[in-house]
Amino acid sequence: MIRRIDAVCKAHFLGYSLGVRKLEGLSASPGIVVGPVFRYADEAAASIPRYEISPRDADLHWGRFDAALEKSRREIGLLIDGRNKEQSDILEAQLLMLTDPEFIPQVREELYRALVNIESVLQLKVESAAAMLRATGDTYLSERAVDIEDAFGRVMVNLLQAENGAMGKVGARFVPPGTILVARNIRPSEALSLRDSGIVGIALEEGGATSHVAILARSWKIPAVMGVRGLLDLVSDGDEVILDGADGVVIVEPAGDAVSRYRSRATSESRLKASEAAVRAALIEAPAETLDGARMTLRANIAVSDEALDAKLEGAEGIGLFRSEFLFLASDSLPDEETQYAEYRRAVESMDGAPVVIRTLDAGADKLIDDQKDYVEKNPLLGWRAIRYCLDRRDVFRTQLRALLRASAHGDLRVMFPMIANLGELEAALCVLDEAKGELSNANVPFNRKLKVGIMIEIPAAAVCADQLAKKVDFMSIGTNDLIQYTMAVDRENARVAHLYDCFNPAVLRLVRMTIAAGIDARVDVSMCGEMAGDPVSAFLLMGMGLRNFSMSPALVTPVKEMVRKVSLRDAIEAAQSALELSAPREIRKLLQERLKTYE
Ligand code: PEP
Ligand code: MG
Repeated sequence: MIRRIDAVCKAHFLGYSLGVRKLEGLSASPGIVVGPVFRYADEAAASIPRYEISPRDADLHWGRFDAALEKSRREIGLLIDGRNKEQSDILEAQLLMLTDPEFIPQVREELYRALVNIESVLQLKVESAAAMLRATGDTYLSERAVDIEDAFGRVMVNLLQAENGAMGKVGARFVPPGTILVARNIRPSEALSLRDSGIVGIALEEGGATSHVAILARSWKIPAVMGVRGLLDLVSDGDEVILDGADGVVIVEPAGDAVSRYRSRATSESRLKASEAAVRAALIEAPAETLDGARMTLRANIAVSDEALDAKLEGAEGIGLFRSEFLFLASDSLPDEETQYAEYRRAVESMDGAPVVIRTLDAGADKLIDDQKDYVEKNPLLGWRAIRYCLDRRDVFRTQLRALLRASAHGDLRVMFPMIANLGELEAALCVLDEAKGELSNANVPFNRKLKVGIMIEIPAAAVCADQLAKKVDFMSIGTNDLIQYTMAVDRENARVAHLYDCFNPAVLRLVRMTIAAGIDARVDVSMCGEMAGDPVSAFLLMGMGLRNFSMSPALVTPVKEMVRKVSLRDAIEAAQSALELSAPREIRKLLQERLKTYE
């Protein structure tokens, strides 16, 4: 539950001043940070910086504008595709705007006259040109205003990107390193750009512990809190806040003594981590084996091929889930076969022969790719996403499958289809895979002819019919993030109903148990790549329920392995039997925690 606790009632305990606000949200990624706020509230236009420049600097600014203009023309040129006439017409019109013999000289004139940075000149000129067109009241001209904004919006992005290098970006704003990002919500594609941006924390008003932003933050070890309602209203850019990711708390305007208390907690946590380094190093090398000799396989979830290296360093025995859609989210157009092949091959080669399970495009809902943006859905979570999209866009799907097959020649790459709801979808997907194999065979292109194919079990219908689906695949992977969402009819990003989102709900556990049983009967490997697999408490239960393969964020591999190595499978089985007789998720969690405590 999210509660706003007034300073007064906590003051004597934490030593806060009266302005202090402690807001509670949902823990999304552990760690404590104290730092200045970078507030993002969709105010893209207001975020363009404006500053004065010298006449000499004006030459530099003009050079930058020229380069950004050229880059934008090249980008638009690449997007023009003769197969889509309407789209090409629009892009060609935009290309003309970027060479407009009147407008471009006007930008230059204004730059040298006003002597302010080129971004603010461009913003001003575009705004006034668009306003003039709209003022005509003519429909055709008003629509051209949108084109001007779009074409020069691209130039603006290129200008800002050239200025800020690899900095992270949300909306049109670049996130300054060392800050804590505070926003209502951000898209997974934006989160992706934060990875190397140097931000130290994330606090969102919306979202839950299994939203994709939370998953990425955990994977990059950036402390994060989700579902902190009211936070945006309380902070401005630069305000100092304390963010405690483990407790899911954000403290606004903290008093000096609270800051030093949290800072020293953060320091002692990192000292603890350092003192644990030797233990961790030994754990990384050790097998994930229980006291009574039961062997578990722990693999990692990644979003981009670069993370495969982190996974290996953390001791993961392969990649259990590569979310390939992030490659699609990272660019405005669909990545071609060569780009995809290079990315998948890189991941496979980084893992030195260990299995790499690559999930085919799971686009839609919160992970909308450009090709889906024109189709507005009433219920995106129940709509045109993942395998449903791919089966409609066979060309996109086949391109990805060809790239995956080609990369399979370089290691143990396995293909996994997301969001399978019934046998028909699986059979259709396998058909497209066969077509792609046929094309490559005919062209003598090498690929692994024994490629393993699996599916995600993340829709209750698939869990219920797992016995039928198992007959057609080499493996099944339980995606609890979505399975819980669809079983409980609760949006995994909606903080207000987050209390219903619980992996220990008996309905969820029964579906998990059915899937594991179907796999055992059909002699098909079952794994889990949902977040439930990465929590030592739930992983203990899953072991007892018969699961042997787990995949999680790289950072969670050692904590789970530590649990596996200190318990016996016999105890896990007994605990699972008792847990499955209970009906309250809270009681199940408590029972498991108590059993695990006996090992301390
Ligand atoms: C899941 O649903 O459990 C899963 C692993 O996929 P994603 O989190 O990407 O939806
Ligand atoms: Mg899913």
